[in-house]
Amino acid sequence: MPSSSEVAHVEIRDHLRVGPGPVDLSTIDPAGTPGLPAGKETTRDPKLWSRGQVAAIGTHLASRQERLYAAAKAGSPHRLLLLLQAMDAGGKDGTVKHVAGQMNPLGLKIVSFGKPTEEERRHHYLWRIRRALPAPGIVGVFNRSQYEDVLVVRVKDLVAPDVLSKRYDEINRFENKEVGDGLTLVKVMLHISKAEQKKRLVERLTDPTKYWKYNPADVDERSHWDGYMAAYAAALSRCNTDAAPWYVVPADRKWYRNWAVAHLVWETLDELDPKYPEPDFDPAAELARLRAAK
Ligand code: ADP
Repeated sequence: MPSSSEVAHVEIRDHLRVGPGPVDLSTIDPAGTPGLPAGKETTRDPKLWSRGQVAAIGTHLASRQERLYAAAKAGSPHRLLLLLQAMDAGGKDGTVKHVAGQMNPLGLKIVSFGKPTEEERRHHYLWRIRRALPAPGIVGVFNRSQYEDVLVVRVKDLVAPDVLSKRYDEINRFENKEVGDGLTLVKVMLHISKAEQKKRLVERLTDPTKYWKYNPADVDERSHWDGYMAAYAAALSRCNTDAAPWYVVPADRKWYRNWAVAHLVWETLDELDPKYPEPDFDPAAELARLRAAK
């Protein structure tokens, strides 16, 4: 077990990647901690351990993010998108704060998708998504995404079944094309239990500093829990491609969630391995010129 400032490296993607075939979310424990290194520190004070690890991973994230940004200046098409989906109170905002918060705001683009505006409703559902994609060199974060159009839309019967059923392949084609254009996509479902959601909603109603997070519609949404689980299972199995795989992160324990998502993004950026570009000038000659100048 490394000390809190060293990073414990595990292949977290292997633990969290959705397998082929149908998905049954009831078999994934929302309080689980897949891939967590065993050791005294993780059992004695997991929150403290996670905080130290996320900060240590954060320095790696930031350095790779800088290289991604620098490479784009020299024409590299690479960009990364962390896409977050979850039930209400599932921890999307907390994940943005703790994981994306480790990176340089200059190279980040964070977009939240709510109920479509009037203008958005006049367009195809992918219109607002395409506009929000990160440019080369940028790390994007989607707080909700195109998947709302096969989640809430399915649960609430907002479109006809034949329209809905075509969307899965359409989303796959869209994602596949973007991946061909330099996008690396990390799709994460933060998986919380119904009991944990209740606990978090109660907290929002009993702490005046959290009232602003509460939306009375959350209680109504909660009554559709099983419908949402079925909709998630369909999206996770039908849109789990090699180009754009899905990961399920157990999210009842916030400290595990932060660690797992930070690790997932780090591992992905590490594989991408962006490089600083070669200068298109002679640094020695430029230095000599600068020194000679008044
Ligand atoms: P959050 O709950 O993520 O903090 P909001 O309070 O703005 O943010 O809620 C966003 C709401 O917008 C959610 O209820 C979500 O289901 C809804 N929404 C998002 N995308 C769509 C969509 N394409 N169609 C219908 N509703 C959507």
